Amino acid sequence: MLVVMQAHATEEQVRAVCEKIESLGYRAHAMPGAQRTAIGVTGNRGEVEPGTLEEMPGVQELIRVSKPYKLVSRDVKEENTVVGCPGSDATVGGKQLAIMAGPCAIESREQAFSVAERVHRAGAQFFRGGAYKPRTSPYSFQGLEEEGLRIMAEIRDRFGLRIVTEAIDHESLELVERYADVIQIGARNMQNFSLLKRAGRAKKPVLLKRGMSATLEEFLMAAEYIMSEGNYKVVLCERGVRTFADHTRNTLDLSLVPAVQRLSHLPIVVDPSHGTGKRNKVTPLSRAAIAVGADGLIVEVHCDPDRALSDGIQSLYPDQFDELMNQVRQIAPVVGRSVASEQPQSALQTSA
Ligand code: PEP
Ligand code: MN
Repeated sequence: MLVVMQAHATEEQVRAVCEKIESLGYRAHAMPGAQRTAIGVTGNRGEVEPGTLEEMPGVQELIRVSKPYKLVSRDVKEENTVVGCPGSDATVGGKQLAIMAGPCAIESREQAFSVAERVHRAGAQFFRGGAYKPRTSPYSFQGLEEEGLRIMAEIRDRFGLRIVTEAIDHESLELVERYADVIQIGARNMQNFSLLKRAGRAKKPVLLKRGMSATLEEFLMAAEYIMSEGNYKVVLCERGVRTFADHTRNTLDLSLVPAVQRLSHLPIVVDPSHGTGKRNKVTPLSRAAIAVGADGLIVEVHCDPDRALSDGIQSLYPDQFDELMNQVRQIAPVVGRSVASEQPQSALQTSA
């Protein structure tokens, strides 16, 4: 159920309707839009009794939302959501593309800083790096854990980059929430419902990766889990799905981008690194992702990929990332977007 408020409804009227909804035992999600505020009602098992709400001051109409996802839907909020990061002007979903880059895993302070310096200079606003790695083998490098988070917090202080890093369980989510700017939920956890709910109670934006066999509806329902707990700052990420194709690690499903944008107001970025698993395919697919209308990219970069502790074969060398940025900068204006400019070395923030 959706309560659509009149365009001139006051804040008090919106608040009164929310309180009424909560008093009926449901949850109210006020979503202010450009024209009017809509209030999503969740927590109801069946129909919400519309009577009392319909009569309240400021209410225009009540609409039944028939889709299984509600808060992620454009029915609730027509205009695109722009997810911001407090303390910076980096956003996802605005005119400027969000570029996230960094190594698959944080391996050492030196390794992380050398990549951060290069991706920052190339114009990325977000630094990605795993401190908790969900590896297929228990014998593979599992990440530096809290030490990795500390290194990334230092990178934020030094370069002003916003930090995106994965939480793999409740325990790591507590720490990731404390140190990072964006909480990544990985493909393997896209249907870890208790983790999604916990991310929904976090105060920071969530980057939700598509599960490797998830349908569009399952993906949107995973986002709905996060939003239903009150965290509306969700960024979706297409990272490739399993198919019979064996020339790539996954098949990057770029058709998901316009499909999501039709149904949802949430921003969506593309991960061409996991989406292809091959270094030589990352730049071509990045071009395609921007052309298809993605709100940004998340790309793996490493200064010495042959010695990387994870995902070296899909990691770009910094020079290749410079070239990727060059090409994306040329394509962006064609689709009405822009890319942050390169940073002179002198633009570095001084250590806090
Ligand atoms: C990653 O971003 O390093 C990662 C593990 O991604 P995914 O969850 O998409 O496999
Ligand atoms: Mn990786």
